[in-house]
Amino acid sequence: MKNWAGNVTFGTERHVMPGTIDELSELVSRSPKIKVQGSKHSFNTIADSSDTLVSLKKFDQIGEPDPETRSVRIGGGVTYGELAVHLQERGWAVSNLASLPHISVIGACATATHGSGRTNKNLSNQLLDLEVMGQDGNIRQIAAGSPEAKLAAVGLGAIGLITTATVRIEPTYQVQQWVYEDLPFDVLTSYFDAVSSHGYSLSLFTKWTGDTVDQMWVKERTGGLFEGRSECFGAKRATEKLHPLKEMDPVNCTDQLGVPGPWSERLAHFKLEFTPSAGEELQSEFFVDFKCATEAITALRKLGSELAPLLFVSEIRFVAADDLPMSPAYSTDIVALHFTWRPMWDQVRAVLPKIEAALAPFGARPHFGKLFTMSPTRLAEVYPRISELKAYAHEVDPEGKFMNEFLTNRVFTNRQS
Ligand SMILES: Cc1cc2nc3c(=O)[nH]c(=O)nc-3n(C[C@H](O)[C@H](O)[C@H](O)COP(=O)(O)OP(=O)(O)OC[C@H]3O[C@@H](n4cnc5c(N)ncnc54)[C@H](O)[C@@H]3O)c2cc1C
Repeated sequence: MKNWAGNVTFGTERHVMPGTIDELSELVSRSPKIKVQGSKHSFNTIADSSDTLVSLKKFDQIGEPDPETRSVRIGGGVTYGELAVHLQERGWAVSNLASLPHISVIGACATATHGSGRTNKNLSNQLLDLEVMGQDGNIRQIAAGSPEAKLAAVGLGAIGLITTATVRIEPTYQVQQWVYEDLPFDVLTSYFDAVSSHGYSLSLFTKWTGDTVDQMWVKERTGGLFEGRSECFGAKRATEKLHPLKEMDPVNCTDQLGVPGPWSERLAHFKLEFTPSAGEELQSEFFVDFKCATEAITALRKLGSELAPLLFVSEIRFVAADDLPMSPAYSTDIVALHFTWRPMWDQVRAVLPKIEAALAPFGARPHFGKLFTMSPTRLAEVYPRISELKAYAHEVDPEGKFMNEFLTNRVFTNRQS
């Protein structure tokens, strides 16, 4: 079995899909090693196991939204697509989505998956109370806001099997989406604060070459400040629907041209009912503090001629600061510098250290679900609170049942796999 991108072949043939908590508990108790497979959208081996891989697809229950607590209870296998349809039908919403809705909620949060928007935190901040199955097969409750909940929200799959979560919700809202073309790079870097504040969610697509950012996707909540005028910082409003890769048919993209629609059909770039993106691809992403962003962008443009032949496209997004120790936005607003690579791993592997070196002065942190070459020593410098997750994982899982090769060798050091 392979991951979504096809670049990872999982290291075990033992794939199990239990249907009840008792079955899951028994499986956990008797497995020497076990990992949950979410929707398999990570590009590295974070979800791999040398022994047992468990799918929680049958843990797909979604409760009724609770207007008092503004939360909804979900099973550990629910995807954002399923949650979005359920909430929208009942007049509720979550605050943000990633670029596609097909990913599982818990798997996405485990790697600090994010959408965009200067005031939007990554998706892990939507998690409240958690029920987690430990190495003995028993469930422990983790209360929202506790130190454990903050570590577990971006837990990298290291702290147990999350069987149930409550998710923060809000009343439904409408979103309009406009795409602009050819935003001059010098305008972007000169007026970075103003440009990046546009809309509820903003994505900039580029290949790092030329003088302009190819596309600027602005998503605004109806009644918001952005009005979709014909020009924005020198970029021209598109007159037809576009795919981030201009040569591709935009049929699978969410509606644009300012047509209002529910959040569930606008916040992701790709529609739930279509296969997203360009098919076979690889992804990497690095996060820098907002205040370093223009220098980081300038550094990447210097690598443009080397990057462009390997890229389908790059995307620049914005994530608000939070207080989750393993979040790349811990205590600081960040800019996300994302790379959708052609499936050319040898060349991508060769260029990643150059990107990491170019972004090192800005303390760049990699996305935990994507491809990077950074050493664990450097990772611990840019994620200084890794040691807290490591200690917590050791406390709740002293035998290392939920560890795998990725966690042991790439993230935590001196921890038995
Ligand atoms: C086409 C595409 C677009 C993407 N777009 C974005 C984007 O817009 N923004 C972004 O930030 N990222 C994006 N990503 C990356 C993606 O969101 C992350 O890799 C995310 O972790 C994938 O979720 P998943 O359910 O597939 O998790 P998996 O890859 O299956 O698992 C990730 C981790 O979560 C753990 N896990 C899963 N479920 C549970 C559970 N119930 N209990 C305990 N541990 C669990 C797994 O064991 C593993 O450690 C994209 C990926 C793809 C392929």
